[in-house]
Amino acid sequence: MKYKVCIIGGGIVGTAIAYFLGKLGETSVAVFEKRYLSSGATGRCGGGIRQQWSTEANVRLAMRSVKFFERFKDDVGMDIEYKQGGYLLLSFSEEEAKQFEKNVKMQKEQGLNVEILTPKMVKNKYPFINIDNLILATFCQSDGHANPHKATFGYAKAAREMGIDVYTHTEVNSIDVKNGEVCGINTSKGYFECEVLVNAAGAWSKEVGKMVGVDLPTESYRHQIFVTEPLNFFFPFMAISFSGNFYMRQTLHGQFIMGQGDKDEKPGINENVTFKFEKEMAKKMTKLFPFLKNLRILRHWSGEYNMSPDAQPILGESKDIKNFYYAVGFSGHGFMLAPAVGEAIAELIVYGKTLHSDISHLNTERFGKGIIQEKNVV
Ligand code: FAD
Repeated sequence: MKYKVCIIGGGIVGTAIAYFLGKLGETSVAVFEKRYLSSGATGRCGGGIRQQWSTEANVRLAMRSVKFFERFKDDVGMDIEYKQGGYLLLSFSEEEAKQFEKNVKMQKEQGLNVEILTPKMVKNKYPFINIDNLILATFCQSDGHANPHKATFGYAKAAREMGIDVYTHTEVNSIDVKNGEVCGINTSKGYFECEVLVNAAGAWSKEVGKMVGVDLPTESYRHQIFVTEPLNFFFPFMAISFSGNFYMRQTLHGQFIMGQGDKDEKPGINENVTFKFEKEMAKKMTKLFPFLKNLRILRHWSGEYNMSPDAQPILGESKDIKNFYYAVGFSGHGFMLAPAVGEAIAELIVYGKTLHSDISHLNTERFGKGIIQEKNVV
């Protein structure tokens, strides 16, 4: 069997790339997923979609993605429970607050409707938040959240309808390279020839890189997250704090989803959960949001952040292997960036350049050049 483009990974990124390739008329495409669609980080994520970034390039990429999320139902044909209830970024550090002020100025220059809120303004607007130690907050109404499973299944379904093949429970075991160029993959369902190969393997990006002898600078770290029982309380936005180390939103059914990072995590795939996380998270969140007290935890799971050295994705063609593309290292923001990234990678493959988003600063060559970018990660 032969395809022009094979994509390793059936998460939001792999399926978005397949969808946008189809939209550009390239349908000799196949996606290979070793488990089920959205079984990786995508199906385990918080579903947050934020445009408040500290670099112009990321603001533009996120704003482009939001345009696609807004049209998802019409364009892709799936209701992904998309809600633009806003993102409230809370800062508990003087240094971070100063950075937020600079960010807001730049974000406004990019055309984003975002505002700065003093603690008093936060309390007036949202009396249910405990503002002790809060220095400042920023708010963008057009930020929001969506259901990551539905978004992935939506892209896969639309891709299939355009003639693209999506193989689930099909593991890519090795990659065939001849004269420095990819030419095929060995999978658990046999050999497939291809002219172009995309590594969209999320937490397994490094292992896939090794299949062509490339040492990708990515590592995966466990992130835990839980959901509570539902509460008859309307919480309209996604709350996040880098200095406070948490994010939280309410689901369509009234439950609260929340997570935090853990700097002691060791690299590697670890899908277990800990009681320590539940205790820490519950203590912190009930202090900040006292209305959560007495609410029980319903489910608790974990997934991997695939991290690059600067916590930004690695996108574009490999400098070592011809026709081998990367869309990896998304840290905690791969869901929200996936539509714009899917479009950009599809354009790179079909036209040899991007037409709508500049992703050149996210190539592999940036490492080792001392480029420092933002680390907005919980
Ligand atoms: P994945 O979804 O991991 O997909 C990669 C797929 O590749 C997997 O399904 C895997 O099975 C498959 N695969 C790997 N190796 C092979 C192989 N050899 N053969 C075949 N298949 C293979 N992002 C946001 O934007 N907003 C959030 O609110 C948010 N919250 C998060 C909360 C948590 C707890 C976690 C863990 C992540 C969060 N993220 C969030 C990050 C986001 O989930 C990821 O960046 C994004 O889902 C990455 O998508 P992906 O398609 O690259 O990876």
